[in-house]
Amino acid sequence: MARPATVVHKNAMNPRSDRIIVIGAGFAGLSAAASLAADGHSVTVLEKHDQPGGRARVLHQQGFAFDMGPSWYWMPDVMERFFGRFDKKVSDYFSLVRLDPSYQVIFSDSEAVSLPADFVALQGLFEEIEPGSGSRLKEFLEEAGRKYEASMRKFVYKPCLSVSEFASFELLSSLFSLDLMQSFSTHARKFFRDPRILQIIEFPVLFLGASPARTPAMYSIMNYADMKLGTWYPMGGMHKLVEAMASLAGEMGADIRLSAPVSSIRVENRRATGVVTSGEALDADLVLAGADYHHVEQHLLEPEYRTYSEKYWDSRTMAPSCLLYYIGLDIKLGKLEHHNLFFDADYERHAASIYDTKSWPEKPLFYTCCPSATDPGVAPAGHENLFVLIPVAAGLDDTPEIRAQYFQMVLGRLERFCGESISEHIVYSKSYAGSDFTRDYNAFKGNAYGLANTLKQTAMLKPSLRSKKVKNLFYTGQLTVPGPGVPPSIISGQVAADYIKTRSRRQLV
Ligand SMILES: Cc1cc2nc3c(=O)[nH]c(=O)nc-3n(C[C@H](O)[C@H](O)[C@H](O)COP(=O)(O)OP(=O)(O)OC[C@H]3O[C@@H](n4cnc5c(N)ncnc54)[C@H](O)[C@@H]3O)c2cc1C
Repeated sequence: MARPATVVHKNAMNPRSDRIIVIGAGFAGLSAAASLAADGHSVTVLEKHDQPGGRARVLHQQGFAFDMGPSWYWMPDVMERFFGRFDKKVSDYFSLVRLDPSYQVIFSDSEAVSLPADFVALQGLFEEIEPGSGSRLKEFLEEAGRKYEASMRKFVYKPCLSVSEFASFELLSSLFSLDLMQSFSTHARKFFRDPRILQIIEFPVLFLGASPARTPAMYSIMNYADMKLGTWYPMGGMHKLVEAMASLAGEMGADIRLSAPVSSIRVENRRATGVVTSGEALDADLVLAGADYHHVEQHLLEPEYRTYSEKYWDSRTMAPSCLLYYIGLDIKLGKLEHHNLFFDADYERHAASIYDTKSWPEKPLFYTCCPSATDPGVAPAGHENLFVLIPVAAGLDDTPEIRAQYFQMVLGRLERFCGESISEHIVYSKSYAGSDFTRDYNAFKGNAYGLANTLKQTAMLKPSLRSKKVKNLFYTGQLTVPGPGVPPSIISGQVAADYIKTRSRRQLV
Protein backbone atom coordinates (compact mmCIF):
# COMPACT_ATOMS: atom_id res chain seq x y z
CA MET A 1 0.00 0.00 0.00
CA ALA A 2 1.31 3.49 -0.86
CA ARG A 3 1.83 5.38 2.41
CA PRO A 4 0.57 8.94 2.52
CA ALA A 5 3.10 11.75 2.52
CA THR A 6 1.35 13.33 5.51
CA VAL A 7 -0.99 11.84 8.03
CA VAL A 8 -3.60 14.26 9.34
CA HIS A 9 -5.28 13.63 12.66
CA LYS A 10 -8.67 14.71 13.86
CA ASN A 11 -8.65 18.35 14.91
CA ALA A 12 -4.90 18.67 14.70
CA MET A 13 -3.79 21.86 16.48
CA ASN A 14 -4.59 24.64 14.10
CA PRO A 15 -3.98 28.24 15.05
CA ARG A 16 -6.29 29.23 12.20
CA SER A 17 -9.58 27.46 12.65
CA ASP A 18 -12.04 28.73 10.05
CA ARG A 19 -15.73 28.14 9.52
CA ILE A 20 -15.73 26.41 6.15
CA ILE A 21 -18.82 25.61 4.11
CA VAL A 22 -18.48 22.87 1.51
CA ILE A 23 -21.23 22.83 -1.13
CA GLY A 24 -22.07 19.28 -2.24
CA ALA A 25 -21.38 15.84 -0.73
CA GLY A 26 -20.05 14.11 -3.84
CA PHE A 27 -16.65 12.37 -3.70
CA ALA A 28 -14.80 15.68 -4.06
CA GLY A 29 -16.79 17.51 -1.37
CA LEU A 30 -16.49 14.59 1.08
CA SER A 31 -12.78 14.19 0.41
CA ALA A 32 -12.12 17.89 1.05
CA ALA A 33 -14.43 18.01 4.08
CA ALA A 34 -12.62 15.14 5.80
CA SER A 35 -9.21 16.78 5.28
CA LEU A 36 -10.33 20.27 6.28
CA ALA A 37 -12.10 19.01 9.41
CA ALA A 38 -9.08 16.91 10.35
CA ASP A 39 -7.05 20.05 9.96
CA GLY A 40 -9.03 21.65 12.76
CA HIS A 41 -11.56 23.71 10.80
CA SER A 42 -15.25 23.85 11.59
CA VAL A 43 -16.66 22.24 8.44
CA THR A 44 -20.28 22.14 7.34
CA VAL A 45 -21.18 20.24 4.16
CA LEU A 46 -24.45 21.28 2.53
CA GLU A 47 -25.93 18.68 0.18
CA LYS A 48 -29.01 19.13 -1.98
CA HIS A 49 -30.04 15.46 -1.84
CA ASP A 50 -31.22 13.35 1.07
CA GLN A 51 -28.13 11.12 0.80
CA PRO A 52 -24.45 11.81 0.11
CA GLY A 53 -22.61 10.60 -3.00
CA GLY A 54 -23.79 12.94 -5.75
CA ARG A 55 -23.54 11.11 -9.05
CA ALA A 56 -22.72 7.98 -7.03
CA ARG A 57 -26.03 7.85 -5.15
CA VAL A 58 -27.80 4.55 -4.54
CA LEU A 59 -31.37 3.75 -5.58
CA HIS A 60 -33.22 1.26 -3.35
CA GLN A 61 -36.26 -0.31 -5.02
CA GLN A 62 -38.06 -3.62 -4.38
CA GLY A 63 -35.07 -5.24 -2.69
CA PHE A 64 -32.59 -4.05 -5.36
CA ALA A 65 -29.74 -1.64 -4.55
CA PHE A 66 -28.79 0.11 -7.78
CA ASP A 67 -25.59 2.15 -7.87
CA MET A 68 -26.84 5.12 -9.87
CA GLY A 69 -23.50 6.21 -11.34
CA PRO A 70 -20.00 4.77 -11.12
CA SER A 71 -19.54 1.02 -11.14
CA TRP A 72 -15.84 0.61 -12.04
CA TYR A 73 -13.60 0.77 -8.98
CA TRP A 74 -10.22 1.53 -10.55
CA MET A 75 -6.97 2.88 -9.07
CA PRO A 76 -7.44 1.37 -5.60
CA ASP A 77 -4.11 2.99 -4.63
CA VAL A 78 -5.82 6.41 -4.72
CA MET A 79 -8.55 5.33 -2.27
CA GLU A 80 -5.96 3.69 -0.01
CA ARG A 81 -3.84 6.82 -0.07
CA PHE A 82 -6.90 8.93 0.79
CA PHE A 83 -7.84 6.85 3.84
CA GLY A 84 -4.16 6.63 4.77
CA ARG A 85 -4.09 10.39 5.34
CA PHE A 86 -6.25 9.73 8.38
CA ASP A 87 -4.35 6.63 9.53
CA LYS A 88 -7.17 4.46 8.18
CA LYS A 89 -7.43 1.73 5.60
CA VAL A 90 -10.11 0.93 3.03
CA SER A 91 -10.62 -2.41 4.82
CA ASP A 92 -11.65 -0.51 7.98
CA TYR A 93 -14.84 0.39 6.11
CA PHE A 94 -15.68 -2.20 3.46
CA SER A 95 -14.45 -5.35 1.81
CA LEU A 96 -12.91 -4.97 -1.62
CA VAL A 97 -12.69 -7.88 -4.08
CA ARG A 98 -10.73 -8.05 -7.30
CA LEU A 99 -12.95 -9.09 -10.20
CA ASP A 100 -11.79 -11.97 -12.37
CA PRO A 101 -12.50 -11.75 -15.23
CA SER A 102 -12.07 -8.00 -15.07
CA TYR A 103 -14.77 -7.60 -17.71
CA GLN A 104 -16.28 -9.15 -20.80
CA VAL A 105 -16.28 -7.59 -24.26
CA ILE A 106 -19.03 -8.63 -26.67
CA PHE A 107 -18.14 -8.20 -30.34
CA SER A 108 -21.24 -9.86 -31.79
CA ASP A 109 -24.13 -12.09 -30.69
CA SER A 110 -21.76 -15.05 -30.95
CA GLU A 111 -18.32 -13.61 -30.16
CA ALA A 112 -17.22 -12.41 -26.74
CA VAL A 113 -13.97 -12.39 -24.77
CA SER A 114 -13.47 -12.19 -21.01
CA LEU A 115 -10.35 -10.36 -19.88
CA PRO A 116 -8.59 -12.33 -17.15
CA ALA A 117 -7.19 -10.49 -14.13
CA ASP A 118 -3.94 -12.45 -14.41
CA PHE A 119 -1.55 -10.60 -16.72
CA VAL A 120 0.08 -13.64 -18.33
CA ALA A 121 -3.36 -15.02 -19.16
CA LEU A 122 -4.32 -11.63 -20.56
CA GLN A 123 -1.25 -11.65 -22.80
CA GLY A 124 -2.31 -15.11 -23.98
CA LEU A 125 -5.74 -13.78 -24.90
CA PHE A 126 -4.18 -10.90 -26.88
CA GLU A 127 -1.91 -13.41 -28.70
CA GLU A 128 -4.94 -15.44 -29.74
CA ILE A 129 -6.59 -12.37 -31.24
CA GLU A 130 -3.47 -10.85 -32.84
CA PRO A 131 -0.21 -12.83 -32.93
CA GLY A 132 2.62 -10.79 -31.40
CA SER A 133 0.29 -8.49 -29.49
CA GLY A 134 0.92 -10.22 -26.14
CA SER A 135 4.50 -9.00 -25.93
CA ARG A 136 3.52 -5.61 -27.35
CA LEU A 137 0.91 -5.33 -24.60
CA LYS A 138 3.70 -5.76 -22.07
CA GLU A 139 5.69 -2.93 -23.70
CA PHE A 140 2.60 -0.73 -24.01
CA LEU A 141 1.77 -1.17 -20.33
CA GLU A 142 5.35 -0.74 -19.13
CA GLU A 143 5.35 2.63 -20.84
CA ALA A 144 1.87 3.40 -19.48
CA GLY A 145 3.09 2.38 -16.00
CA ARG A 146 5.93 4.90 -16.18
CA LYS A 147 3.42 7.59 -17.15
CA TYR A 148 1.11 6.52 -14.32
CA GLU A 149 3.90 6.75 -11.75
CA ALA A 150 5.07 10.13 -13.06
CA SER A 151 1.50 11.50 -13.13
CA MET A 152 0.71 10.30 -9.64
CA ARG A 153 3.96 11.41 -8.06
CA LYS A 154 4.49 14.68 -9.85
CA PHE A 155 1.39 16.11 -11.48
CA VAL A 156 -2.01 14.86 -10.44
CA TYR A 157 -1.82 16.14 -6.86
CA LYS A 158 -0.92 19.68 -7.95
CA PRO A 159 -3.39 22.60 -7.86
CA CYS A 160 -2.28 23.60 -11.41
CA LEU A 161 -2.67 27.31 -10.77
CA SER A 162 0.55 28.46 -12.40
CA VAL A 163 3.24 27.20 -14.75
CA SER A 164 5.78 27.84 -12.00
CA GLU A 165 4.53 24.66 -10.28
CA PHE A 166 6.15 22.72 -13.13
CA ALA A 167 9.28 24.84 -13.49
CA SER A 168 12.02 22.41 -12.63
CA PHE A 169 14.14 20.40 -15.02
CA GLU A 170 12.99 17.13 -13.47
CA LEU A 171 9.30 18.03 -13.79
CA LEU A 172 9.66 19.35 -17.31
CA SER A 173 11.43 16.21 -18.47
CA SER A 174 8.73 14.09 -16.83
CA LEU A 175 6.14 16.23 -18.60
CA PHE A 176 7.67 15.33 -21.96
CA SER A 177 7.59 11.65 -21.04
CA LEU A 178 3.82 11.94 -20.57
CA ASP A 179 3.38 12.14 -24.32
CA LEU A 180 0.95 15.04 -24.37
CA MET A 181 1.25 15.97 -28.03
CA GLN A 182 0.53 12.59 -29.58
CA SER A 183 -3.06 11.36 -29.79
CA PHE A 184 -4.17 8.28 -27.92
CA SER A 185 -5.40 6.60 -31.11
CA THR A 186 -2.06 7.16 -32.93
CA HIS A 187 -0.17 5.84 -29.92
CA ALA A 188 -2.36 2.72 -29.61
CA ARG A 189 -1.92 1.95 -33.32
CA LYS A 190 1.85 1.78 -32.90
CA PHE A 191 1.31 -1.33 -30.80
CA PHE A 192 -1.88 -2.97 -32.05
CA ARG A 193 -3.75 -3.51 -35.34
CA ASP A 194 -6.67 -5.81 -34.70
CA PRO A 195 -9.87 -3.74 -34.39
CA ARG A 196 -11.05 -5.81 -31.42
CA ILE A 197 -7.87 -5.15 -29.49
CA LEU A 198 -8.05 -1.47 -30.36
CA GLN A 199 -11.60 -1.35 -29.00
CA ILE A 200 -10.46 -2.92 -25.74
CA ILE A 201 -7.57 -0.46 -25.46
CA GLU A 202 -9.64 2.61 -26.41
CA PHE A 203 -12.79 1.98 -24.40
CA PRO A 204 -11.69 3.75 -21.17
CA VAL A 205 -11.03 7.04 -22.94
CA LEU A 206 -14.20 6.85 -25.01
CA PHE A 207 -16.43 6.19 -22.01
CA LEU A 208 -14.82 8.68 -19.68
CA GLY A 209 -13.66 11.53 -21.78
CA ALA A 210 -13.25 12.23 -25.45
CA SER A 211 -12.69 10.59 -28.78
CA PRO A 212 -9.36 8.69 -28.75
CA ALA A 213 -8.18 10.82 -31.70
CA ARG A 214 -8.46 13.95 -29.54
CA THR A 215 -7.21 12.51 -26.27
CA PRO A 216 -3.50 12.83 -25.43
CA ALA A 217 -1.54 9.57 -25.41
CA MET A 218 -0.92 10.26 -21.72
CA TYR A 219 -4.27 8.63 -20.99
CA SER A 220 -2.79 5.18 -21.59
CA ILE A 221 -2.42 5.52 -17.80
CA MET A 222 -6.02 4.31 -17.78
CA ASN A 223 -5.01 1.08 -19.53
CA TYR A 224 -2.38 0.62 -16.85
CA ALA A 225 -5.06 1.17 -14.21
CA ASP A 226 -7.32 -1.33 -16.00
CA MET A 227 -4.91 -4.12 -16.88
CA LYS A 228 -2.23 -3.86 -14.21
CA LEU A 229 -3.88 -2.37 -11.12
CA GLY A 230 -7.10 -4.28 -11.73
CA THR A 231 -10.86 -3.88 -11.57
CA TRP A 232 -12.21 -4.05 -8.03
CA TYR A 233 -15.60 -4.09 -6.38
CA PRO A 234 -16.64 -2.98 -2.89
CA MET A 235 -19.03 -5.63 -1.54
CA GLY A 236 -22.38 -3.94 -1.06
CA GLY A 237 -21.81 -1.70 -4.08
CA MET A 238 -19.92 1.44 -5.02
CA HIS A 239 -22.00 3.35 -2.52
CA LYS A 240 -19.97 1.67 0.23
CA LEU A 241 -17.13 4.01 -0.74
CA VAL A 242 -19.45 7.01 -0.35
CA GLU A 243 -20.65 5.76 3.04
CA ALA A 244 -17.06 5.21 4.15
CA MET A 245 -16.01 8.71 3.14
CA ALA A 246 -19.06 10.32 4.75
CA SER A 247 -18.42 8.34 7.92
CA LEU A 248 -14.76 9.36 7.93
CA ALA A 249 -15.63 13.04 7.37
CA GLY A 250 -18.03 12.78 10.34
CA GLU A 251 -15.35 11.11 12.48
CA MET A 252 -13.03 14.01 11.66
CA GLY A 253 -15.69 16.43 12.89
CA ALA A 254 -17.43 17.58 9.68
CA ASP A 255 -21.17 18.24 9.92
CA ILE A 256 -22.92 16.87 6.80
CA ARG A 257 -26.37 18.38 6.31
CA LEU A 258 -28.58 16.62 3.79
CA SER A 259 -31.57 18.06 1.90
CA ALA A 260 -29.81 21.43 2.18
CA PRO A 261 -29.56 22.97 -1.32
CA VAL A 262 -27.53 26.16 -1.52
CA SER A 263 -29.37 28.92 -3.41
CA SER A 264 -26.69 31.63 -3.27
CA ILE A 265 -23.22 32.52 -2.05
CA ARG A 266 -23.10 35.81 -0.18
CA VAL A 267 -20.18 38.04 -1.20
CA GLU A 268 -19.05 41.38 0.26
CA ASN A 269 -16.00 43.28 -0.97
CA ARG A 270 -14.80 40.29 -3.00
CA ARG A 271 -15.05 38.01 0.05
CA ALA A 272 -17.55 35.21 0.52
CA THR A 273 -19.28 35.77 3.86
CA GLY A 274 -21.54 32.70 3.74
CA VAL A 275 -24.31 30.99 1.82
CA VAL A 276 -28.09 30.79 1.80
CA THR A 277 -29.63 27.34 2.13
CA SER A 278 -33.37 26.62 2.38
CA GLY A 279 -33.97 30.28 3.27
CA GLU A 280 -31.38 30.19 6.09
CA ALA A 281 -28.23 32.33 5.94
CA LEU A 282 -25.09 30.58 7.21
CA ASP A 283 -21.88 32.52 7.87
CA ALA A 284 -18.52 31.26 6.70
CA ASP A 285 -14.87 32.33 6.58
CA LEU A 286 -14.33 30.28 3.44
CA VAL A 287 -16.52 28.51 0.87
CA LEU A 288 -15.46 25.45 -1.12
CA ALA A 289 -17.83 24.54 -3.94
CA GLY A 290 -18.00 20.84 -4.82
CA ALA A 291 -21.21 21.20 -6.84
CA ASP A 292 -20.94 21.56 -10.62
CA TYR A 293 -18.65 24.51 -11.38
CA HIS A 294 -20.89 26.07 -14.02
CA HIS A 295 -23.91 25.95 -11.68
CA VAL A 296 -22.01 27.58 -8.81
CA GLU A 297 -20.67 30.39 -10.94
CA GLN A 298 -23.74 31.07 -13.06
CA HIS A 299 -26.47 30.46 -10.49
CA LEU A 300 -25.08 30.97 -7.00
CA LEU A 301 -22.93 34.08 -7.66
CA GLU A 302 -23.74 37.57 -8.89
CA PRO A 303 -22.35 38.25 -12.42
CA GLU A 304 -19.45 40.42 -11.21
CA TYR A 305 -18.07 37.49 -9.19
CA ARG A 306 -17.99 34.97 -12.04
CA THR A 307 -14.57 34.04 -13.43
CA TYR A 308 -15.93 32.35 -16.56
CA SER A 309 -18.65 33.57 -18.93
CA GLU A 310 -21.48 31.56 -20.46
CA LYS A 311 -19.56 31.88 -23.74
CA TYR A 312 -16.56 30.19 -22.12
CA TRP A 313 -18.70 27.26 -20.98
CA ASP A 314 -20.33 26.95 -24.40
CA SER A 315 -16.90 26.67 -25.98
CA ARG A 316 -15.87 23.71 -23.75
CA THR A 317 -15.88 20.12 -25.00
CA MET A 318 -18.04 18.17 -22.60
CA ALA A 319 -17.40 14.51 -21.78
CA PRO A 320 -20.39 12.37 -22.74
CA SER A 321 -23.66 12.41 -20.93
CA CYS A 322 -25.45 9.09 -20.73
CA LEU A 323 -28.73 7.34 -21.09
CA LEU A 324 -29.03 4.88 -18.21
CA TYR A 325 -31.42 2.12 -17.24
CA TYR A 326 -31.71 0.47 -13.83
CA ILE A 327 -33.35 -2.91 -14.36
CA GLY A 328 -34.43 -5.61 -11.91
CA LEU A 329 -35.05 -9.14 -13.25
CA ASP A 330 -36.69 -12.09 -11.53
CA ILE A 331 -34.20 -14.53 -13.12
CA LYS A 332 -30.43 -15.02 -13.16
CA LEU A 333 -28.65 -14.55 -16.50
CA GLY A 334 -26.04 -17.17 -17.29
CA LYS A 335 -23.94 -15.27 -19.80
CA LEU A 336 -23.31 -11.91 -18.18
CA GLU A 337 -20.16 -11.15 -16.19
CA HIS A 338 -20.04 -8.34 -13.63
CA HIS A 339 -18.94 -5.81 -16.32
CA ASN A 340 -20.02 -6.30 -19.96
CA LEU A 341 -19.10 -4.02 -22.85
CA PHE A 342 -21.37 -4.42 -25.85
CA PHE A 343 -19.10 -3.46 -28.74
CA ASP A 344 -21.35 -5.14 -31.29
CA ALA A 345 -21.77 -1.84 -33.17
CA ASP A 346 -19.71 0.59 -35.21
CA TYR A 347 -17.37 2.28 -32.74
CA GLU A 348 -16.35 5.21 -34.96
CA ARG A 349 -19.93 6.13 -35.81
CA HIS A 350 -20.96 6.10 -32.19
CA ALA A 351 -17.97 8.30 -31.24
CA ALA A 352 -18.83 10.70 -34.08
CA SER A 353 -22.41 11.03 -32.78
CA ILE A 354 -21.06 11.99 -29.34
CA TYR A 355 -18.31 14.39 -30.35
CA ASP A 356 -19.01 15.59 -33.91
CA THR A 357 -22.69 15.54 -34.85
CA LYS A 358 -23.90 15.63 -31.21
CA SER A 359 -26.92 13.54 -32.09
CA TRP A 360 -28.61 10.35 -30.90
CA PRO A 361 -26.53 7.37 -32.14
CA GLU A 362 -28.15 5.06 -34.67
CA LYS A 363 -26.74 1.89 -33.14
CA PRO A 364 -24.78 2.64 -29.97
CA LEU A 365 -22.21 0.69 -28.04
CA PHE A 366 -23.39 0.19 -24.51
CA TYR A 367 -22.20 -1.12 -21.16
CA THR A 368 -24.08 -3.41 -18.79
CA CYS A 369 -23.13 -3.91 -15.18
CA CYS A 370 -24.49 -6.95 -13.42
CA PRO A 371 -23.23 -6.53 -9.82
CA SER A 372 -25.51 -9.35 -8.62
CA ALA A 373 -23.16 -11.71 -10.50
CA THR A 374 -20.63 -10.96 -7.71
CA ASP A 375 -22.72 -9.67 -4.83
CA PRO A 376 -25.94 -11.40 -3.71
CA GLY A 377 -26.66 -8.41 -1.46
CA VAL A 378 -27.71 -6.06 -4.27
CA ALA A 379 -30.75 -8.05 -5.50
CA PRO A 380 -33.33 -10.38 -3.97
CA ALA A 381 -32.42 -14.10 -4.13
CA GLY A 382 -32.69 -15.50 -7.65
CA HIS A 383 -32.88 -11.99 -9.14
CA GLU A 384 -30.48 -9.96 -11.25
CA ASN A 385 -29.54 -6.29 -10.81
CA LEU A 386 -28.67 -4.65 -14.15
CA PHE A 387 -27.34 -1.21 -14.93
CA VAL A 388 -27.15 -0.20 -18.59
CA LEU A 389 -25.18 2.83 -19.78
CA ILE A 390 -25.19 4.31 -23.29
CA PRO A 391 -22.72 7.19 -23.67
CA VAL A 392 -24.34 10.02 -25.65
CA ALA A 393 -23.55 13.65 -26.45
CA ALA A 394 -24.20 16.16 -23.67
CA GLY A 395 -27.19 18.43 -24.19
CA LEU A 396 -29.51 16.11 -26.18
CA ASP A 397 -33.29 16.21 -25.74
CA ASP A 398 -34.26 12.90 -24.05
CA THR A 399 -37.98 12.43 -24.56
CA PRO A 400 -39.93 9.43 -23.11
CA GLU A 401 -40.20 8.10 -26.69
CA ILE A 402 -36.42 8.16 -27.15
CA ARG A 403 -35.86 6.44 -23.80
CA ALA A 404 -38.39 3.74 -24.72
CA GLN A 405 -36.85 3.25 -28.16
CA TYR A 406 -33.31 2.71 -26.83
CA PHE A 407 -34.63 0.49 -24.04
CA GLN A 408 -36.09 -1.87 -26.63
CA MET A 409 -32.88 -1.78 -28.67
CA VAL A 410 -30.74 -2.63 -25.63
CA LEU A 411 -33.08 -5.41 -24.50
CA GLY A 412 -33.03 -6.95 -27.97
CA ARG A 413 -29.22 -7.04 -28.01
CA LEU A 414 -29.04 -8.37 -24.45
CA GLU A 415 -31.54 -11.11 -25.31
CA ARG A 416 -29.72 -12.11 -28.48
CA PHE A 417 -26.40 -12.35 -26.66
CA CYS A 418 -27.78 -14.11 -23.57
CA GLY A 419 -29.91 -16.40 -25.72
CA GLU A 420 -32.91 -16.06 -23.45
CA SER A 421 -35.96 -13.88 -23.02
CA ILE A 422 -35.45 -10.97 -20.66
CA SER A 423 -38.37 -8.58 -21.31
CA GLU A 424 -40.94 -10.75 -19.56
CA HIS A 425 -38.73 -11.03 -16.46
CA ILE A 426 -38.43 -7.31 -15.78
CA VAL A 427 -39.83 -6.54 -12.33
CA TYR A 428 -38.40 -3.04 -12.05
CA SER A 429 -37.04 -0.52 -14.55
CA LYS A 430 -36.20 3.13 -14.55
CA SER A 431 -34.44 5.32 -17.10
CA TYR A 432 -32.14 8.23 -16.27
CA ALA A 433 -30.69 10.72 -18.78
CA GLY A 434 -29.31 14.21 -19.40
CA SER A 435 -32.39 16.11 -18.22
CA ASP A 436 -32.26 14.14 -14.95
CA PHE A 437 -28.59 15.09 -14.51
CA THR A 438 -29.55 18.73 -15.02
CA ARG A 439 -32.44 18.57 -12.53
CA ASP A 440 -30.68 16.48 -9.88
CA TYR A 441 -27.09 17.74 -10.05
CA ASN A 442 -27.51 21.16 -11.69
CA ALA A 443 -25.30 19.68 -14.43
CA PHE A 444 -24.38 21.95 -17.34
CA LYS A 445 -25.90 20.46 -20.52
CA GLY A 446 -26.83 17.38 -18.47
CA ASN A 447 -23.20 16.28 -18.40
CA ALA A 448 -22.42 13.06 -16.58
CA TYR A 449 -18.62 13.22 -16.31
CA GLY A 450 -17.75 16.90 -16.64
CA LEU A 451 -15.24 18.08 -19.22
CA ALA A 452 -13.65 15.87 -21.86
CA ASN A 453 -10.00 14.91 -21.32
CA THR A 454 -8.62 16.87 -24.26
CA LEU A 455 -5.21 18.57 -24.26
CA LYS A 456 -6.85 22.01 -24.27
CA GLN A 457 -8.73 21.07 -21.12
CA THR A 458 -5.88 19.58 -19.11
CA ALA A 459 -4.20 20.88 -15.92
CA MET A 460 -3.95 24.69 -15.97
CA LEU A 461 -6.35 24.83 -18.91
CA LYS A 462 -9.21 23.51 -16.74
CA PRO A 463 -11.47 25.82 -14.73
CA SER A 464 -9.32 26.93 -11.79
CA LEU A 465 -9.75 25.57 -8.28
CA ARG A 466 -9.40 29.13 -6.98
CA SER A 467 -11.90 31.85 -7.83
CA LYS A 468 -10.22 34.77 -9.54
CA LYS A 469 -12.94 37.16 -8.34
CA VAL A 470 -13.69 36.10 -4.77
CA LYS A 471 -10.67 35.74 -2.47
CA ASN A 472 -11.93 32.99 -0.19
CA LEU A 473 -13.97 30.93 -2.69
CA PHE A 474 -12.53 27.67 -4.03
CA TYR A 475 -13.74 24.87 -6.28
CA THR A 476 -13.34 21.12 -6.28
CA GLY A 477 -14.83 18.23 -8.26
CA GLN A 478 -14.79 16.69 -11.67
CA LEU A 479 -14.99 20.03 -13.56
CA THR A 480 -11.73 21.31 -12.14
CA VAL A 481 -8.35 19.59 -11.64
CA PRO A 482 -7.45 16.82 -12.13
CA GLY A 483 -10.68 15.77 -13.94
CA PRO A 484 -13.57 13.29 -14.17
CA GLY A 485 -13.80 9.89 -12.48
CA VAL A 486 -14.04 8.70 -8.90
CA PRO A 487 -10.28 8.68 -8.13
CA PRO A 488 -9.67 12.12 -9.71
CA SER A 489 -12.64 13.58 -7.79
CA ILE A 490 -11.25 12.25 -4.51
CA ILE A 491 -7.85 13.68 -5.44
CA SER A 492 -9.49 16.99 -6.34
CA GLY A 493 -10.89 17.28 -2.81
CA GLN A 494 -7.47 16.55 -1.32
CA VAL A 495 -5.74 19.06 -3.60
CA ALA A 496 -8.27 21.80 -2.77
CA ALA A 497 -8.01 21.11 0.98
CA ASP A 498 -4.21 21.09 0.85
CA TYR A 499 -4.16 24.30 -1.15
CA ILE A 500 -6.48 26.01 1.34
CA LYS A 501 -4.17 24.85 4.12
CA THR A 502 -1.18 26.55 2.54
CA ARG A 503 -2.96 29.88 2.24
CA SER A 504 -2.41 32.25 5.13
CA ARG A 505 -5.40 33.98 6.67
CA ARG A 506 -4.03 37.30 5.37
CA GLN A 507 -4.33 36.07 1.79
CA LEU A 508 -7.93 35.02 2.30
CA VAL A 509 -9.45 38.11 3.95
C1 LIG B 1 -23.47 7.22 -14.93
C2 LIG B 1 -22.05 7.48 -14.49
C3 LIG B 1 -21.15 6.44 -14.48
C4 LIG B 1 -19.85 6.66 -14.05
N1 LIG B 1 -19.00 5.62 -13.99
C5 LIG B 1 -17.79 5.78 -13.41
C6 LIG B 1 -17.01 4.64 -13.10
O1 LIG B 1 -17.43 3.50 -13.34
N2 LIG B 1 -15.80 4.84 -12.49
C7 LIG B 1 -15.34 6.10 -12.19
O2 LIG B 1 -14.23 6.23 -11.66
N3 LIG B 1 -16.09 7.21 -12.47
C8 LIG B 1 -17.31 7.07 -13.03
N4 LIG B 1 -18.12 8.14 -13.23
C9 LIG B 1 -17.62 9.49 -12.91
C10 LIG B 1 -17.70 9.78 -11.40
O3 LIG B 1 -18.88 9.23 -10.89
C11 LIG B 1 -17.70 11.29 -11.17
O4 LIG B 1 -16.56 11.85 -11.81
C12 LIG B 1 -17.68 11.66 -9.70
O5 LIG B 1 -18.65 10.94 -8.98
C13 LIG B 1 -17.89 13.16 -9.56
O6 LIG B 1 -17.83 13.52 -8.21
P1 LIG B 1 -17.96 15.06 -7.80
O7 LIG B 1 -17.85 15.11 -6.33
O8 LIG B 1 -17.04 15.89 -8.61
O9 LIG B 1 -19.43 15.51 -8.30
P2 LIG B 1 -20.89 15.05 -7.85
O10 LIG B 1 -20.94 13.61 -7.57
O11 LIG B 1 -21.84 15.53 -8.87
O12 LIG B 1 -21.13 15.84 -6.49
C14 LIG B 1 -21.61 17.16 -6.49
C15 LIG B 1 -22.65 17.26 -5.38
O13 LIG B 1 -23.14 18.59 -5.30
C16 LIG B 1 -24.53 18.55 -5.03
N5 LIG B 1 -25.12 19.83 -5.40
C17 LIG B 1 -25.33 20.33 -6.66
N6 LIG B 1 -25.85 21.58 -6.57
C18 LIG B 1 -25.97 21.85 -5.25
C19 LIG B 1 -26.45 22.97 -4.52
N7 LIG B 1 -26.89 24.10 -5.13
N8 LIG B 1 -26.46 22.91 -3.16
C20 LIG B 1 -26.02 21.80 -2.51
N9 LIG B 1 -25.55 20.71 -3.15
C21 LIG B 1 -25.52 20.75 -4.51
C22 LIG B 1 -25.02 17.39 -5.85
O14 LIG B 1 -26.27 16.91 -5.39
C23 LIG B 1 -23.88 16.38 -5.64
O15 LIG B 1 -24.13 15.59 -4.50
C24 LIG B 1 -19.44 7.97 -13.64
C25 LIG B 1 -20.35 9.01 -13.67
C26 LIG B 1 -21.65 8.78 -14.07
C27 LIG B 1 -22.63 9.91 -14.05
